[in-house]
Order: sequence, then C-alpha cells, then structure tokens
Amino acid sequence: VLHNSLVELKGNIRVHCRIRPLLPFDSESDDPVLQSSSISREVAHAVDDETVLVKCDRPGHPLINKTYHFERVYGPAESQSAVFGDVCPLLTSLLDGYNICVMAYGQTGSGKSYTMLGPHSDDGPVLPLDPQSDLGIIPRVAEELFRLISENPSRNPKVEVSIVEVYNNDIFDLLAKDSIAAVSGVKREVMTAKDGRTEVALLASEAVGSASKLMELVRGGLQLRAKHPTLVHADSSRSHLIITVTLTTAACSNSTADQACSATLPREQTEAGRAGRAGRSRRASQGASAPQPVPGNPAGCVEQVQARLQLVDLAGSECIGMSGATGSALRETACINRSLAALADVLGALSEHRDHVPYRNSRLTHLLQDCLGGDAKLLVILCISPSQRHLAQTLQGLGFGIRAR
Ligand code: ADP
Repeated sequence: VLHNSLVELKGNIRVHCRIRPLLPFDSESDDPVLQSSSISREVAHAVDDETVLVKCDRPGHPLINKTYHFERVYGPAESQSAVFGDVCPLLTSLLDGYNICVMAYGQTGSGKSYTMLGPHSDDGPVLPLDPQSDLGIIPRVAEELFRLISENPSRNPKVEVSIVEVYNNDIFDLLAKDSIAAVSGVKREVMTAKDGRTEVALLASEAVGSASKLMELVRGGLQLRAKHPTLVHADSSRSHLIITVTLTTAACSNSTADQACSATLPREQTEAGRAGRAGRSRRASQGASAPQPVPGNPAGCVEQVQARLQLVDLAGSECIGMSGATGSALRETACINRSLAALADVLGALSEHRDHVPYRNSRLTHLLQDCLGGDAKLLVILCISPSQRHLAQTLQGLGFGIRAR
C-alpha cells in the first residue's frame, strides 16, 4: 500500500537511471592515455540513489563535472531484484486496472536487455530457473503477475500476450502463427479502434495461464526476432521489442451486479471507480450495441475491463547524430532516430502536460499510446555505461532522461 501511494505521489512518468558495471570490453580502448595512466575509466557515478555524477577531467578533453537527478539511480553493484522491487508496485496498479509501460532506453551495450530479460548469449536470452539468478524484469514480472493473480483468485483475469518488433517503422508480429510468418514475419498496422483505444490489426495474441507459458512465448518471439530476414544485416539492437500483456476482467453494469461483483473487483474497474477517473475507458464492450454476459463470471457482470502492460526494449540510441551511413544502414539509422525522437517529443509533451501529444508521429509512439498518456503509468529505465569510451552517448541518454521527467 505504501509503495503504491508513493507511485501515485510521484506522478505518471518516472525515470530511473541504471549505471552498469565497467566490463572487460570497456577497456578495449586504443587511447594510450587511458591505457598507461591511473585516470579512471569510469566517468559516470552513482553519487547516491537519486544522483548521477558525470565527471571527466582527462587532459586534452573538455572538463565535465555535472550532476543529474532522477527518481532513482541504481549504481553498478545494484541487483536485478533491487530494480524489480521498483517495478513490482506497478503490477498492483495493473491489477487495479491501470495501463502500465516499463521501457529500457540506452545505447547498445548499456544494459537494456540485461535489465529487461537478464543475461544473454548470442543465441538469445538465458532464462535460468535458479531464483537467485540474474533474471531481468520480464521473467520476474511473469512470476509476480501470476503470484498476485493466484493470491486473489476471485478476480481471475484472462491474461493474453502479444509480441511485436518495430523495425524501420514497420511493425512485425512475432507470434503470428502462419507458416509465412514463421519465415518472414508478418507486418501489421497500428490503428485507433472505435472506442479510442490503440490496436494493432490482426495481431496474434495468446492466452496464458502461467509464468512459464508466458516466458515460453517470449522466448519463441525472441528467437523469431533473431532469425528475422529484415535483420540479417542488422542485430536485434536495431529494432524495438514490445511485449504486451493484456488483462481482461469482468465488470458489472448494474447495481445488483455491482453488489455481486464489488467484492471481487478493484474500485477502478467498477462504474463508480471509472466515473471518477479521467482518461480512456477500458471497457472492451464499449461501442457494442448490447453488452453480453461474460462466460464464467458472476451473473450480471456484462462488461470486460482491460488493462495493458507493455514491456519495451528499445533499439540502441547510439545512432542519434550518426553521419556517414549509406543505403539500408542509413534508412535504419534514420528510422531509429525518428522513432526515438518521436518518443522524446511524446514524453516531453506529457511531462509538460501539453494539450497535444504527438503520438502519431511514429508507429512506436502510436503503438505505445495507451500505456504512455492519460492515467497510464510509465517507468523509463535509462541504461548507461560508466565507461569513458561511451561518454558522448551517456550524456545524450541523460539528456533524454531529464527531458522525459
Ligand atoms: P543492450 O541491451 O543495451 O545492448 P546488454 O543488456 O546486452 O546491452 O548489456 C551489454 C553487456 O553488459 C552484456 O554482456 C550484459 O550481460 C552486461 N551487463 C549489462 N548490465 C549489467 C549489470 N547491471 N550487471 C552485470 N552485467 C551487465
């Protein structure tokens, strides 16, 4: 309860910054000054759990000594479970009917996939069964979600999963079943449905009843992503990965039914709760001519209420400002630049409470629309490298994070 009220107080967009440890490949620098001297290779430091210090006083480089504040800063030694501890309250909000988005932003190699999925090899993410392991947010979310559901079986939402990647501003369905999809991926289109919600037309989605089934689908989606022909010349860090978990719960439409169901539904999902809240309605049946009883739910419960969780591993942000690329690399770079710039614009507009939020400027932001604005709750985990080699990208990432808050 305390955790949740803290989330409320801090508003709908939070930016946390995670500094990964210095790794062996960080020192593959041909810079003789760094190799021979005692000058620190680390330029980004967690001063405390809300402050990042970027300090560079190397001879021949402009002096940098700048602090950045975020709602939370994770230093290099902080565990995956510490990061998940801050995601956990959002799952309670999800079950209360809020749309939620958790996204990792940063340059390639800054720790986005590690944070979202866990340690991985070139063959894809390793998802060990050992609970003490380095599992990232997604497998932990899967476990915790079904644990929360089993704690309160009366709610018993239907859980469905869909997985897409956005590459060159095209949306590919990573769960599409048909054989063409299995070899080539299937392009989908995002649209605004009659009830105002954002939908991807014909998107495959699968009902799941356990954390292990959810993770099985995630692993399948990631394997397809890795084999994807559009990506043969590019690695997966050039596309955005979006895993959407949709919870559908029965809700009531009349007072008798309200009484029957009120014990089983969170306030936000009853008519009374909805009436008091701004933002988009999540009634799946809205716009339909006559609401139908929901099979398997108490008599009188005639609507379905949906809440969405989007878990996003963004493409590497390092291409921003990159020049000299040609051909397909140029197109790829331009698309990543445009989509991340569109995301920055949307987050900037939301944090400044502007009337117009330019969601439609890219498929990425259109796809995420329902989980970014309104009363949705967004957590951005800005991943940065501590290494001197990555200083320029680290500063760019910190700038993005500050703008989004
Ligand atoms: P990205 O997804 O941003 O390209 P990765 O998640 O692949 O970056 O991280 C790059 C490397 O750094 C990987 O080998 C990963 O295991 C390692 N790594 C990233 N963050 C951490 C961390 N907090 N602790 C330990 N290793 C990490």
